[in-house]
Amino acid sequence: MGGRKKECPNQQENRENCPCTWRDCDKKGYCCECLKSHLSRKELPACAFPSDVERSYDRSFERFVKTYGRRG
Ligand code: SF4
Repeated sequence: MGGRKKECPNQQENRENCPCTWRDCDKKGYCCECLKSHLSRKELPACAFPSDVERSYDRSFERFVKTYGRRG
């Protein structure tokens, strides 16, 4: 990921609390970049989904609406 101007002071703590199961992601712990990247693809980050849905790696808005429309 280019253009990272400065290291995030919260990166390590964010990383420890990140529920994302996708390996080798260079945005892990950099929540601003993670969110920006997923929003640009009409997706949400891993932490927006329950763990069973997160593991599908379908992070689309549609999947989010489908998941919470049903579960509340
Ligand atoms: S949700 Fe996406 S950008 Fe964020 S840590 Fe997981 S794979 Fe990386």
